[in-house]
Amino acid sequence: MRASQFFIATLKEAPSDAEIISHQLMLRAGLIRRLAGGIYTWMPMGLRVLRKVEAIVREEMNRAGAIELLMPAVQPFELWEESGRGPGYGPELLRFKDRHQRDFVIGPTHEEVITDIVRREIKSYRQLPRNFYQIQTKFRDEIRPRFGVMRGREFLMKDAYSFHTTFADLQREYQRMHAAYTNIFTRLGLKFRAVAADTGSIGGTGSHEFHVLADSGEDAIAFCPASDYAANVELAEALAPKIVGAGETATMEKRATPGKTKCADVAEFLGVPITHMVKAIAVMAGAASEPQFTLLLLRGDHDLNEIKAQKHIGEFRFARDEEIEKHLGCRPGYIGPVPNHPTEPTLKPFLDEGPDLQFTGEVRVIADRAVGAMKNFVCGANEAGYHLTGVNFGRDLPLPTEIVDIRNVVAGDPSPDGKGILELCRGIEVGHIFQLRTKYAEALKCTYLDEQGKDQVMEMGCYGIGVSRIVGAAIEQGHDERGIVFPQNIAPFSVVIVPMAYAKSEMVKTAADALYEQLCTAGIDVLLDDRDERPGFMFADWELIGVPHRIVVGERGLKEGQLEYKGRTDTEAGMVSADEMLGFIQQKLSA
Ligand code: ATP
Ligand code: MG
Repeated sequence: MRASQFFIATLKEAPSDAEIISHQLMLRAGLIRRLAGGIYTWMPMGLRVLRKVEAIVREEMNRAGAIELLMPAVQPFELWEESGRGPGYGPELLRFKDRHQRDFVIGPTHEEVITDIVRREIKSYRQLPRNFYQIQTKFRDEIRPRFGVMRGREFLMKDAYSFHTTFADLQREYQRMHAAYTNIFTRLGLKFRAVAADTGSIGGTGSHEFHVLADSGEDAIAFCPASDYAANVELAEALAPKIVGAGETATMEKRATPGKTKCADVAEFLGVPITHMVKAIAVMAGAASEPQFTLLLLRGDHDLNEIKAQKHIGEFRFARDEEIEKHLGCRPGYIGPVPNHPTEPTLKPFLDEGPDLQFTGEVRVIADRAVGAMKNFVCGANEAGYHLTGVNFGRDLPLPTEIVDIRNVVAGDPSPDGKGILELCRGIEVGHIFQLRTKYAEALKCTYLDEQGKDQVMEMGCYGIGVSRIVGAAIEQGHDERGIVFPQNIAPFSVVIVPMAYAKSEMVKTAADALYEQLCTAGIDVLLDDRDERPGFMFADWELIGVPHRIVVGERGLKEGQLEYKGRTDTEAGMVSADEMLGFIQQKLSA
């Protein structure tokens, strides 16, 4: 490609609404242009990147035995009613009517359509298993489209759907797709992790997300560097700490903490580490008609994991101030698990020789596993302006009967697989594989005849890759102050030739043209920048665009039979003999 015949649309500044670096760089490098919120044109330069990503995905899917087809973007809403998913899908599903007032949607995903095809086409166990895939445009009316192509409304996805006679065969294909995805993201040159995306109820293999690791990622991931354990922070289990000795040495004391209602402030004020604090979160659990006032106890530095809590207590909401006052006799900020109101004489105290105290209302107390093992801790006194120090379970209050995992894991926690210590990082979800089982096949009556001639429902898996999102994710991972640093396999061009004074020097022009022809003939994806701009201007463009290899053709070097070479991340340029340049570049490209 010659620059004069191509379209380069670099910008000096990124539009101010681009929040993250990949979005800014994609606009500045002229890879994309915005048409409407979450809807982008892939400009010629960007399209080359997208096509390269696509090609790698396609090659690996084919290699893994999946079969390509192409389904329509427009789908009849009827199918979504049949699967039962239509009504629940919500406003992310873009619906419209055709001229006959029939309802249609623009496909956000294609389980319904592929299942419809398979139920019509596949009749016998002899035709199974099959894995069909497409690389196709999706539309999801995302509530917050942002970060450019990373969370667009219109985006390109590779989606595959496999059909099987048995669950075991689905699991086999799932492993194969897991391996194919690993190959794809490795070939794309990305740092990534496969993350368990469910709670492990089906042995942890029911669903995995593939994440590109990047600080700007929307998802928090916990992983163990010593093993392949990785999970969404929301789902990673926090193990119970080992209980160490007795050590209830401190006596319980009531301390004035006026105006200190936040855990961190109380800890600082009392001069104790925040890890010695217990915070109580008051929630109303259960049915709205009969909510149960519940205190969730967490160590001061830990965060409540609402998904885990919900698993244990069902739907809940945070308690209102008046509900807290009613049950604890105290306003928020100073609440805690130690009852401090005299019991009525008829009520038996919780410990034989313990204090004769209770809450002012019915209170269910649930402790996180970490809290269950704490000694000599600090908590609210259920009296405005006061906290208790040196508190111990079994002596100052009963050990809660419910001690469960309700917090987010933090860095330094033991890995649930017992193989090391967890670290946290952020990730961008670029792929998702899922064992759907018979969910769609059952609803849409997608059946086959087994060896006995009996009708059976198919087992099904689905496997998505965010093809357009990958481009943004790759840039999040690869950039510097001068622009994009593309992995070699997906850069818009592998090599750029920048001639100095192309229009003025016959010698330069001849040499640059010859080199260009030579590289083209060798099948190298090369661009000759014949725009005849100032060298600094051209250099800046190609560094912004992120082309991995740059060759400068100048009179001074040519007189000594030399060309200048610089890799995108090299700190300095070096000279290479003009005769050896082809071999030199080929070697770089195969590295
Ligand atoms: P997310 O949690 O990011 O919304 P999802 O769980 O909705 O993703 P899937 O339905 O599994 O995504 O879709 C498969 C893949 O498509 C995702 O792994 C992601 O890479 C990509 N993808 C999903 N939504 C978008 C979007 N709005 N823009 C770009 N890519 C997307
Ligand atoms: Mg989504």
